Amino acid sequence: MTLQHSVANPIEPAGGAMIDPFGRRITYLRVSVTDRCDFRCVYCMAENMTFLPKADLLTLEELDRLCSAFIGKGVRKLRITGGEPLVRKNIMWLFSALSRHLQNGDLDELTLTTNGSQLRRFAASLAAAGVRRVNVSLDTLEATTFRAITRWGDLAQVMDGIRAAQAAGLHIKINMVALKHTNEHDIEKMLRWCHGEGMDLTLIETMPLGDIEGDRTDQYLPLSVVRARLMDRLTLEDIPYRTGGPARYVRVRETGGRVGFITPLTHNFCESCNRVRVTCTGTLYMCLGQDDAADLREPLRASSSGDLLKAAIDEAISRKPKGHDFIIDRRGEKPALARHMSMTGG
Ligand code: SAM
Repeated sequence: MTLQHSVANPIEPAGGAMIDPFGRRITYLRVSVTDRCDFRCVYCMAENMTFLPKADLLTLEELDRLCSAFIGKGVRKLRITGGEPLVRKNIMWLFSALSRHLQNGDLDELTLTTNGSQLRRFAASLAAAGVRRVNVSLDTLEATTFRAITRWGDLAQVMDGIRAAQAAGLHIKINMVALKHTNEHDIEKMLRWCHGEGMDLTLIETMPLGDIEGDRTDQYLPLSVVRARLMDRLTLEDIPYRTGGPARYVRVRETGGRVGFITPLTHNFCESCNRVRVTCTGTLYMCLGQDDAADLREPLRASSSGDLLKAAIDEAISRKPKGHDFIIDRRGEKPALARHMSMTGG
């Protein structure tokens, strides 16, 4: 872990709130509850991954304490992610525990990002815990392409999960990673399907995170190209809609639905960054695209009062960097960052 201290002076937080050196208020926490996944998406993981020993993971009770500390410090939106969050044993305990913060008004939104494989089992319980919106990652509607991208996934199972989530009243947003050759010709079909189902679609550029046994330049498809192609066939109207995330949205006049673009490599989305991420071992990353991090597991375990934890959070926020500098290394195959997205969550 490198320690990069920020250049600006930290702004003194008011009332325990988290305000970084650049005046950005941190209100959004993403928590990875496991590094394990039942898929092996080609842009995300190598097929043979070495996962963390279970003993290294924060327990569900510790995750609850950690999330609650952040909520006490001004987090209003909490996203549970992974790995695949719904493969973590007894994960519904955590959702149910965290729902108390929704009930007492300290949290605006409890949500998750999932590959959808376990949604059939959990959709109703998630809705009962107060989850209203779910992001489902789905890169194609073609079963063979789906298998090629996920290596282990079954499209029918995910579709089943999406139906179950709809039936439970959850609003679904589909996240689709745009991949050169693999799914680039499925994008319009996906868009029309999502909008027909009343779901937004967000397109994501591949980010150079973690070793994946291959060359990322083969996968990289700039969304500027995707957008230009869509504009040949559809009318995209810029709209001010924001979800608190980095996506820039347009409305498609022909379908009436929204499409978001997340373009970390072609557009810098850091200036309005309001989020931090915690891994399943309690490591806090202040920026998805930088290595600097803070260990929260030790202060979490060292004191049950939470004081050490809060001090560690404040210290970490005081060195949140201004932004990331992802590049896809075109000379080698090295990722810009050694860790995988499955560690910090999407
Ligand atoms: N398993 C869950 C899922 O599939 O949504 C949550 C974790 S997954 C790491 C979160 C999101 O990150 C997914 O939408 C996935 O497609 C995306 N992702 C993973 N690796 C990526 C990469 N290198 N570049 C861009 N997106 C990536």
